[in-house]
Amino acid sequence: MVLKEREQWKEKSVDEIKDFISNVYEKEAKSPCPVDRLKALSDSLRRKSCGECVICREGILQLSVLTESITQGGGREGDIDVISEISQDMSIGSGCDFGREVGKIAKDIIESEREQFERHIKRKRCDALVCKNFITYYISPEACTGCNQCAKACKAESIKGSNGLIHIIDSASCTKCGDCELTCESGAILKSSTSVPNLPTIPVPVGSTPSDSSQGSLMSQRRRRRSE
Ligand code: SF4
Ligand code: SF4
Ligand code: SF4
Repeated sequence: MVLKEREQWKEKSVDEIKDFISNVYEKEAKSPCPVDRLKALSDSLRRKSCGECVICREGILQLSVLTESITQGGGREGDIDVISEISQDMSIGSGCDFGREVGKIAKDIIESEREQFERHIKRKRCDALVCKNFITYYISPEACTGCNQCAKACKAESIKGSNGLIHIIDSASCTKCGDCELTCESGAILKSSTSVPNLPTIPVPVGSTPSDSSQGSLMSQRRRRRSE
């Protein structure tokens, strides 16, 4: 087996290295969420380090592991300081400009977006509505036209409703794949990183008011009780 040769960044000019990293950044790290952005950048670059110095090789890997954990809800008190220290050490102690540049970018992100990192770790919130573990998909009863396209698109079968009814999402089984959001032409499928508004508990006819929805729910409960 022939092992793919690692790029020898030491032999490249600063401009070549900067161009390479900014290309990767533009292509891979477009997310509006800074934690997700740093995760994408470190993920993409960790196999590009030539591996000669520990601070670059292990530093990028640790950035990737820590940001992955934060985006998934496993962030811990102290993670921000560790990320800051790693990026600071990389920016001054790496053996060539590759490690130094990655360190500088990571340092910029953590310093300018510290509050967003804190919100992910302490409040389990992603204000950019990117990190799946922190968001809930729901359907706006006012905007839903009852076209049923989202239910057809949902592979997890988490959307209840049929033509002419306001559809509802079962959060417990929703995998947060986002397919329904792409399908809905009415923009009725929304995401929230905090609490969701008061929603119908069962599909009710399009145009129903919130009180109709709760009556629908009560009527169905009564029907269920009678048939018990
Ligand atoms: S900083 Fe060190 S490990 Fe990273 S690419 Fe340069 S020489 Fe290789
Ligand atoms: S949420 Fe959108 S796609 Fe789904 S039924 Fe309502 S309008 Fe149609
Ligand atoms: S996000 Fe995916 S799993 Fe959840 S309701 Fe929409 S299509 Fe179904």
